[in-house]
Amino acid sequence: MGKVLMIGAGGVATVAAFKIVQNQDVFTEFMIASRRKEKCDELVKAIHDKGYKADIKTAQVDADDVEQLKALFNSFKPELVINLALPYQDLTIMDACLACGCNYLDTANYEPKDEAHFEYSWQWAYKDKFEQAGLTAILGCGFDPGVSQAYTAYAAKHHFDEIHYLDIVDCNAGNHHKAFATNFNPEINIREITQKGLYYENGKWIETEPLVVHQDITYPNIGPRDSYLMHHEELESLVKNYPTIKRARFWMTFGQQYLTYLDCIQNLGMSRIDEIEYEAPLADGSGKTVKVNIVPLQFLKAVLPNPQDLGENYNGETSIGCRIRGIKDGKEQTYYIYNNCKHQDAYNETGMQGVSYTTGVPAMAGAMMFFKGLWRKPGVWNVEDFDPDPFLEVLNKQGLPWHEEFGGDLEL
Ligand code: NDP
Repeated sequence: MGKVLMIGAGGVATVAAFKIVQNQDVFTEFMIASRRKEKCDELVKAIHDKGYKADIKTAQVDADDVEQLKALFNSFKPELVINLALPYQDLTIMDACLACGCNYLDTANYEPKDEAHFEYSWQWAYKDKFEQAGLTAILGCGFDPGVSQAYTAYAAKHHFDEIHYLDIVDCNAGNHHKAFATNFNPEINIREITQKGLYYENGKWIETEPLVVHQDITYPNIGPRDSYLMHHEELESLVKNYPTIKRARFWMTFGQQYLTYLDCIQNLGMSRIDEIEYEAPLADGSGKTVKVNIVPLQFLKAVLPNPQDLGENYNGETSIGCRIRGIKDGKEQTYYIYNNCKHQDAYNETGMQGVSYTTGVPAMAGAMMFFKGLWRKPGVWNVEDFDPDPFLEVLNKQGLPWHEEFGGDLEL
């Protein structure tokens, strides 16, 4: 039914690849392309070693380079391109999709390399072009963004006449037994969490200093965890699509040790994203040096644990969901919809930890919605612009079952 090209061969891409291979009735032709072809070949080997039979093509591509992307798209001719590289590559991949008549899906919104700032405006600006080309672009189809918006859309469709208060609550109660590690790409992750907090209230965006607003939130099967208010991209589209929302916030848990390390990293200047001059030894062993420009955060990424290697010793679970308050049939209604995912279950199935799993499964599920014709309309869309029902049904079957609670004291 569907010819799909996935770009990237990291943690999230590994999970998506396993899931694509488990659903070959939908994904009939599959290519993985990334900056280093050997990473793609290792991923294919990992899939075959787990006993799956699948003919997967691999290729090298620099996704910062539109011409390279166009050459690859024109030779493989995918119907859908799944972008699981980094947010920096969103626009080049969208440009190449437009040039070659391919549809597009990603899991994180565009971010310029030289500015730690994320918002949808850059990608929403492609709406007319995708519409005119008759192509679909699905933005932010991971867990959060992604499933968090499908949960909100499901609540709006089935349980509310008006949503008034929305809190997206994201807890990782796992332990990877490392002093400090990030759960997805360290550069992207540290850029995200060192930004100012932002939430929406009564028609206005309110900024806070980074990670200063926090409170205990109780998560199912986990208990209370200190949770920090952060800016998260899906709030931007959700308040636009659900104008009855009076307040929308995003919370994420962090352990004290993680925050202490983060503080040190920042104070040492290692989270800087501007270039500094560094005197590096020449690789020829001559002892001579050469001046090179490096970005401290990219250097730090090179020495931190690779999130792809955390799975084996990771125990505990994640819990991510939406707590919603609003009105149904004239009465106040509170509602909580969430998924819990165990790191060890994710590892046993795919070799990756739970954060890669909770992102890679929805990416595959969104792609499946596209190929089944259920999420296919020309333009650039966020997840809540589509029918959440078939998507959530697929998540139930593909390893991310969800649960709901009504009433109770869900007020934060
Ligand atoms: P990784 O760093 O593990 O993987 C990124 C992959 O992209 C790597 O294989 C990397 O190559 C490849 N890549 C990087 N630059 C290029 C390039 N210029 N051309 C081609 N390939 C390139 O990241 P993750 O798997 O952890 O994250 C992937 C995406 O998922 C990110 O955008 C992240 O923000 C997003 N995400 C979304 C979440 C959600 O819930 N919505 C949650 C978690 C992550 P190499 O292996 O050579 O480095």
